[in-house]
Amino acid sequence: MFSALARLAPVALRRSFSTSAQNNAKVAVPGASGGIGQPLALLKNSPLVSGLTLYDIAHTPGVAADLSHIETRAHCLKVVVIPAGIPRKPGMTRDDLFNTNACIVATLSVACAQHCPEAIIISNPVNSTIPITTEVFKKHEIYNPNKIFGVTTLDIVRANTFIAELKGLDPAQVNVPVFGGHAGKTIIPLISQCTAQVDIPQDQLTAITGQIQEAGTEVVKAKAGAALATLSMAYTGARFVFSLVDAMNGKEGVVECSFVKSPEADCAYFSTPLLLGKKGIEKNLGIGKISPFGEKMIAEAIPELKASIKKGEEFVKNMK
Ligand code: NAD
Repeated sequence: MFSALARLAPVALRRSFSTSAQNNAKVAVPGASGGIGQPLALLKNSPLVSGLTLYDIAHTPGVAADLSHIETRAHCLKVVVIPAGIPRKPGMTRDDLFNTNACIVATLSVACAQHCPEAIIISNPVNSTIPITTEVFKKHEIYNPNKIFGVTTLDIVRANTFIAELKGLDPAQVNVPVFGGHAGKTIIPLISQCTAQVDIPQDQLTAITGQIQEAGTEVVKAKAGAALATLSMAYTGARFVFSLVDAMNGKEGVVECSFVKSPEADCAYFSTPLLLGKKGIEKNLGIGKISPFGEKMIAEAIPELKASIKKGEEFVKNMK
């Protein structure tokens, strides 16, 4: 199955667009026909993206025809954003789909290792799949920890929105760093490090932390199983791409949180704020000053993170 998918993903259904010639970041989106992939394909319109290549195993001609009607100027792959995967239905956890999504991410990681080993990889979902990409790249001897990112930006955007609503602030002025991972209690919003500074009593802090951690499930339920968070996920995937391409183009001071290989916590991968640069991660800015509530959340998240990471690593070890 692995090699059959590997052939299908990069080759069978593919469509490339030339976009603005202003910068030269060429971006690939495997899973481009999906609920996240379609709105993410609107990256085509960004002046930061000079070429966009869409991959999927289904419906690509339709998406390509649709996108081709958007007016943009007519041309080494730098960034691959992977929203490919099977979404969960109500009542399912991300773990229920582990084998299917692990297989898809492993397949696409092998394709990246073979066809664009220099590219920066941005992937979602995250806690087990970033270790999968890492292990595949190690097997292909092209591993560079500064170039593999798990997108957790959706948790940050949700935290900013909910805090702004609670405190009556402009969301554009609110930035909550979110640490840890990207599922349930591994999502650790450190509201004590929020800019602007906000004062929230502990009971509200606990409640809003739970709201941020369960926001994905709220969307799955509200859509009655038809889809999960596709628009907000595509928005945040695009935001991460823009930040990265800005930094790759030499913009200074670009910081985003992301789930990466990290020495910052008692597990191999952990999300903290990262200074981005021309070659991916420039500097891990670390956990910083942390509240007792933050410490407690990190301690509670570590066992689950370790188990998810191990699951991803074992998957690649047992792969034929
Ligand atoms: P979707 O089913 O609408 O789209 C997935 C697309 O991936 C489909 O078009 C499918 O054909 C494609 N695909 C599958 N295998 C592929 C392969 N080997 N190569 C290329 N394309 C392939 O799903 P969606 O709503 O877009 O969600 C995609 C993934 O993102 C799911 O795994 C979902 O769980 C995850 N997700 C995560 C979050 C989050 O916050 N972590 C939020 C939303 C979705």
